[in-house]
Amino acid sequence: MASKRIECTGCSLLCDDIIIKTDGLYIDEVIGACLKGKEKFDQVTSKNRIFSPLVRKNSELQKISLSKAFEEAIKIIQNSSKPLLYGFSTVSCQAQLKGIELAKLIDGFIDSNSIICQGKVLNAAKQTGMTLTTISEVINKADLLIFWGANVAESIPRLLNKTVFSRGKFRMTGREIKTVIIIDPVKTASFGVMGVRDIALRINPGKDIELIQALKEECCTPGSFPSEGVAGLDSDDLRRLLIQLTNAENGVIFIGQGIVSSTKEPKVIQELLELVQMINIKQQKGRMAVMMLGGHYNMAGFDQVALSVSGKNHSLQFSNNQLVDSSDTIITKINNDDFDCSIIVGTDPISHLPWKLSKKLASKPLILIDNKKSATSLIADLIIPSAITGIEVGGLAYRLDLIPIELKQYLKPPSNIVSDEEILSQLIEGLKGG
Ligand code: SF4
Repeated sequence: MASKRIECTGCSLLCDDIIIKTDGLYIDEVIGACLKGKEKFDQVTSKNRIFSPLVRKNSELQKISLSKAFEEAIKIIQNSSKPLLYGFSTVSCQAQLKGIELAKLIDGFIDSNSIICQGKVLNAAKQTGMTLTTISEVINKADLLIFWGANVAESIPRLLNKTVFSRGKFRMTGREIKTVIIIDPVKTASFGVMGVRDIALRINPGKDIELIQALKEECCTPGSFPSEGVAGLDSDDLRRLLIQLTNAENGVIFIGQGIVSSTKEPKVIQELLELVQMINIKQQKGRMAVMMLGGHYNMAGFDQVALSVSGKNHSLQFSNNQLVDSSDTIITKINNDDFDCSIIVGTDPISHLPWKLSKKLASKPLILIDNKKSATSLIADLIIPSAITGIEVGGLAYRLDLIPIELKQYLKPPSNIVSDEEILSQLIEGLKGG
């Protein structure tokens, strides 16, 4: 039984300090992973793993061979003139690149989950710019950590361990000099880490933009905080928050789903990034940075891959095998019924999209490439199971701070199961008639 140090793909933190004991066939023991990470390793033999290609015949999913599954997939794609490709946040960058190559070949539209998550921050940053930081810099230097709309204790479980409770290389002190501020309407599990010097701000739901605008106003015109407070926070809280923001030597705002998914206030992220830039201009001795908290382990990867090959970080529309201008996103494409089949890779849109959109997606032929059962696998017309990246196949992924991490293979995939990259490559070859 050999011990290996490996990366965990349970979430976008991609912890690279996990030890496993394995005989090369099964994982015997996992040391150092959180419960969420442990679940990811358990996926290898989990009951909801998909071990065989499946096709829907007479409303029932039936097993078929891998070669037959490729034939069926190619038939569906060849009968389509407006294919949609979606997902790609839980696959390697190599598979993401193949996804874009396939979309180009079949004149499809491709988008990743990032468009409804951290892609919104990148889009806002095109107007404002953005000061970024890395996990190592936060561990070694941060003295102020703000979790805004982010319940990291549950979504990225080891982030608090690594960033709040660590000492870092350049200090003799650790947790005792770090101030944690949590801004959230809900008292989440993350509030459990609060110490005496920390600040818990229970903001009124959906009022983040009012708080940000008040902070911006106060940066320009000191003394402008209204005496009755803003967004459910009293004026003392507002002053304490601004003092922390403008006095931190190395501050970071972790931008969570709570603020990114605000549909009522689409400009909230832009306002937040502008506030950070204002503080950095005002700051004499330190700086504030932001970090996006995408959930899936390689959500950041799709943005990087798409940007590098097309200059756009999401929503790529191809026509005549060329990228064309389009303001569509996966949401508008489905909403406008502007598709006639979909290829879903490593995600479960039937669960996470609004019901109206899920229903439209389910109404047209759907090919699913994934390794686990989900609401989407229940309605798919064709399922091609994939190997688990970071366990059964290697590849590149981008951590949430946009640092590339090489994922290694240490188990063989089950027979007849290949990587997402290989599946997409075979579809491309088949469509080219190779
Ligand atoms: S925090 Fe994320 S990457 Fe780290 S062990 Fe847990 S699930 Fe895995």
